[in-house]
Amino acid sequence: MPAPICVRCEIEMRTKTNGVPVLETYGEEKKPYKLWNGDLWQCTKCLNMVIVGFAKEPMANHFDEGFEKTLEQERIRSGKVFNSHERRFAL
Ligand SMILES: [Zn+2]
Repeated sequence: MPAPICVRCEIEMRTKTNGVPVLETYGEEKKPYKLWNGDLWQCTKCLNMVIVGFAKEPMANHFDEGFEKTLEQERIRSGKVFNSHERRFAL
């Protein structure tokens, strides 16, 4: 699989961590929506990071039974859950 390219440095990024949890949120209140799993890549020169390589389906949806528990388990497993806010409410 081709690696993501750092546009600033014009070099391939390296995988930092496979399978990091990403919580997609919605609305102004940034409510939990979907929990995804992706791969964290980093530029070895400028250290910029991106998360790509998501599965086709989320690990969990906010309406699933035990969603909060799954989220907490992922937080413990990974040490961190990255957030992905809707663009229009991201600032
Ligand atoms: Zn870079």
